[in-house]
Amino acid sequence: MHEYSIAYDLYATARKAALEHHADRVKKVSVEVGKMAMVNPDQVIFLFDTIKEDDPLFGKTVLECNEISPQTKCTCGYAGSEIYVCPQCGALPELVKGREIVVTNIEIEVDDE
Ligand SMILES: [Zn+2]
Repeated sequence: MHEYSIAYDLYATARKAALEHHADRVKKVSVEVGKMAMVNPDQVIFLFDTIKEDDPLFGKTVLECNEISPQTKCTCGYAGSEIYVCPQCGALPELVKGREIVVTNIEIEVDDE
């Protein structure tokens, strides 16, 4: 399942970052999801919640998915958001952004000793 591996990757990435920073809790994980990544953000959030359930570090973590629009460019010089046909020359534009899923921010809490 596509979404499951994505959700697991996000969890693993956030967990690694949290441990590196000696976090006691992870408050929020922000993710950019390209619209061309063909994933359902609601499903990723649901699966993320299932995966993190037994991990005390992630007791109250909110996963925030921000969908980002595709960006394309063409050899003729066109740059924009048309993904199938270049409006200037009719060729297939190249996708430069919009297929990726990236963690953009992780908010953690550290208890004072
Ligand atoms: Zn073009």
